[in-house]
Amino acid sequence: MSTIRKNLEKIRQAVEEACQRAGRDPSTVRILGASKKQPPQKIREAFEAGLRLIGENYVQEARDKKTALEDLPLQWHLIGPLQTNKARYAVKLFHCIQTIDRPAIVKELSKRAKGLSTPLEVLIEVNVGGEETKAGVNPEELPSLAEQILETPFLELKGLMTIPPYRENPEEVRPFFALLRSLREDLKRRFPEAPLTELSMGMSHDFKVAIEEGATIVRIGTALFGPRDY
Ligand SMILES: *Cc1c(COP(=O)(O)O)cnc(C)c1O
Repeated sequence: MSTIRKNLEKIRQAVEEACQRAGRDPSTVRILGASKKQPPQKIREAFEAGLRLIGENYVQEARDKKTALEDLPLQWHLIGPLQTNKARYAVKLFHCIQTIDRPAIVKELSKRAKGLSTPLEVLIEVNVGGEETKAGVNPEELPSLAEQILETPFLELKGLMTIPPYRENPEEVRPFFALLRSLREDLKRRFPEAPLTELSMGMSHDFKVAIEEGATIVRIGTALFGPRDY
């Protein structure tokens, strides 16, 4: 069995166990392969083992890999920051942009997504730890950004995403995951019509805790693909 297949099996097992602990249905959690700095061949192996969801951090890198993997029905998400001048490429490459964090990028995407046959899915990235170096909106700015997206045709607000502060012990990250979930609940109350189903949270070292706190997408890099190439 290939290493990637074994890794994916192990991750699936851990997802199931975390769901069991939380009383959740495992089919409500999707594994996204975070494949930045990994060669297309590894993504192909993961696809062959059953992975369907891929997250890339850089628009150009995603474009190259999508070309190399054209024959595979993968769903591509952007999980890295989006610059305004890349928006027009991003709307063509990605099914979902997980890193919406400011009004200017919503405005730009609204221009670029005009006329798409299906709306572009987006998640708002929230800075749950209040770290200055991290991307994401502050929780106070979240409702107005959500409202802006909900008023924009061709964009579909599916939920929230976060990269919490790093802690050696994943248990210490739990409050940040719980915060993202409660922010999502607040938004649902405020905008009951919005399809706010997704919580993209949890990476290789803390995804089990994230699932216990309600994650619907876990973004797994090294635990799936091994160390990054460069
Ligand atoms: C790299 C990356 C991941 C995956 O990180 P691992 O620790 O390798 O699992 C998840 N989310 C984002 C936004 C990333 O940039």
